[in-house]
Amino acid sequence: MIQLILFGPPGAGKGTQSTFLVEKYNLVHLSTGDIFRYNIKNETPLGKLAKTYMDEGKLVPDDVTIQMLESEVNKHQNPEGFIFDGFPRTASQAAALDAFLASKNSGISALVALEVPEDELKIRLAERAKTSGRADDAKPEVIQNRIDVYKNETTPVMDHYKKQDKFISVSGVGSIPEITDRLTQVIDSLR
Ligand code: AMP
Repeated sequence: MIQLILFGPPGAGKGTQSTFLVEKYNLVHLSTGDIFRYNIKNETPLGKLAKTYMDEGKLVPDDVTIQMLESEVNKHQNPEGFIFDGFPRTASQAAALDAFLASKNSGISALVALEVPEDELKIRLAERAKTSGRADDAKPEVIQNRIDVYKNETTPVMDHYKKQDKFISVSGVGSIPEITDRLTQVIDSLR
């Protein structure tokens, strides 16, 4: 079973690459951002809460996010594996994910970090804003907040998995198929 964390700053290409990888390896794609957006669209209490944080580029509180992720994982009986996209985003989320998977006699196979320079991220997010309809892509100050949150709160997740020898870095610069090729090589090496 492959349990992959597809990691990287906003705009690194995690969502784009996940769509190819889930198909190729028959994995379940769990994007916490997508789940929050689904809840916002359907005006659920969770969506209303998440929106207040997301609109400012802040993280939704850990307890809410962890509980949501665990219940999503539990919806899948005997999956071939998961791609976690946008989760874990804090050291406490990483610890909670490890404990949750351990309780199922499972664990993370690897954290694969897509590396993209900050200037390129800003260009990509501004481009995505034209079509994504995402409020958090539209304002430069919110984009900057998201990048700052990534640097301050999310990069510790890399150290968490480096300590477990599960960290793999992949260049996220190039064409979409080139990056997919790099990622499939990594995943094939884990199987
Ligand atoms: P994303 O689609 O991954 O870029 O996430 C969009 C927004 O959803 C983030 O800026 C956060 O506000 C929220 N979010 C997504 N995943 C998480 C998470 N793991 N922890 C806290 N907030 C999250």
